[in-house]
Amino acid sequence: MKTAQLHNIFLEFPEICTDTRKIKENSIFFALKGDNFNGNKYASAALENGAAYAVIDEKEYAESDKHILVDDVLKTLQELASFHRNYSNARVIALTGSNGKTTTKELINAVLSKKYRTIATKGNLNNHIGVPLTLLSIKEDTEIAIVEMGANHQKEIEFLCSLALPDFGYITNFGKAHIEGFGSEEGVIKGKSELYDFLTKHNKHIFINGDDPIQFKKLGSYIKKYGFSSDQKEFYRIEFLGANPFVKLSFENCNIESQLIGSYNFTNCAAAILMGKYFNVGVDKIKDAIESYSPNNNRSQIISHKGHQIILDAYNANPTSMKAALENFAQMEGIHKVAFLGDMFELGEIAPAEHQNIANLARELNFDDVILVGENFYKTSTSYKKHSSFGELKDFLKDQKLSPESLILIKGSRGMALERILDVV
Ligand code: ATP
Ligand code: MG
Repeated sequence: MKTAQLHNIFLEFPEICTDTRKIKENSIFFALKGDNFNGNKYASAALENGAAYAVIDEKEYAESDKHILVDDVLKTLQELASFHRNYSNARVIALTGSNGKTTTKELINAVLSKKYRTIATKGNLNNHIGVPLTLLSIKEDTEIAIVEMGANHQKEIEFLCSLALPDFGYITNFGKAHIEGFGSEEGVIKGKSELYDFLTKHNKHIFINGDDPIQFKKLGSYIKKYGFSSDQKEFYRIEFLGANPFVKLSFENCNIESQLIGSYNFTNCAAAILMGKYFNVGVDKIKDAIESYSPNNNRSQIISHKGHQIILDAYNANPTSMKAALENFAQMEGIHKVAFLGDMFELGEIAPAEHQNIANLARELNFDDVILVGENFYKTSTSYKKHSSFGELKDFLKDQKLSPESLILIKGSRGMALERILDVV
């Protein structure tokens, strides 16, 4: 079937599903394949559960005229998304970077939806499947689409840009994340910069953090750039007023107190403010949007738990975000400060050195206690308590009582699932 033909069907049934457990009435089911599953097998079940059509790529499952047989379901999904993007009049803002994409995306959406009809990436659907799904959520009347793009190897952002055709872009930062796939820090910069390459090549607009030397160096002479900065005159001035614990900032005599902890969230807020200004959202509305946004899903949440205050940052970790979290924790006021740090994944051969650096930094910052968990932290040389697995940590905590009213930081990679600590402290 030609993409244009499939697009006509999509316009009639504009909801896409890829999971038979969550089939929506009158949706189109795309039978994707993974390492351990084959969506083709579930196509008929999807139709029985209400899907209008099922796109499949294995002939033997083509059991009715509601089964649309194609060569490759994933490719078809991407082509449909690309077609739909070209068909739509929405302006697309693309976001990538090592840390803070989802938070920044949510903040931008909060700000821009005060004035425009927007859509944004749902949750963290930022890869070769998630970006097409996001593009296919653009409605007839959508004015601005905010698209998060993730990458762990070269050419991924280039490909996602070729589908999304962004009109605007922002890179949150260049950090030490996914080194395994990118090869090195230079590799990360190159990979993420594929967004800049696309935008400059097509003469599009770029938002930058004017205080970031890498961004400044890369785009100093590019004309269609709009930056924020706390001190450089050529950029829009947004001032950082501290993070104790919540980030405060000001612009145009307007003070903002966010519900986000960690000084690293300053740039995330600043990017959203800058875009609000660019798209002429009123200052009061920008303030309201940023102040009303509170994070969920274990991303730098602050919670009260059995008399302790806990900064729960168990969503993910890499050396850059770990360092930022520790430095921020050091600035916070607390009677008894304890940091639980879990392994950082996907670092490849730099893993031993990076875990050692973090263990050393934690020592320098002089917290009341630091508890390390994971195979990598277990191999570091440190005087802190360390546990090679969560099970070991759990056994250890059974006999321990934390000082009452401790201020606790919990941070580690997603795979460590350190939110489980809440069940045992
Ligand atoms: P993912 O790669 O999983 O999509 P992401 O880039 O979308 O991650 P977020 O989910 O917004 O990032 O934030 C994850 C964590 O990264 C936060 O809880 C925080 O610890 C850290 N973080 C957020 N923003 C920044 C930043 N600007 N600089 C450094 N660390 C940050
Ligand atoms: Mg994300």
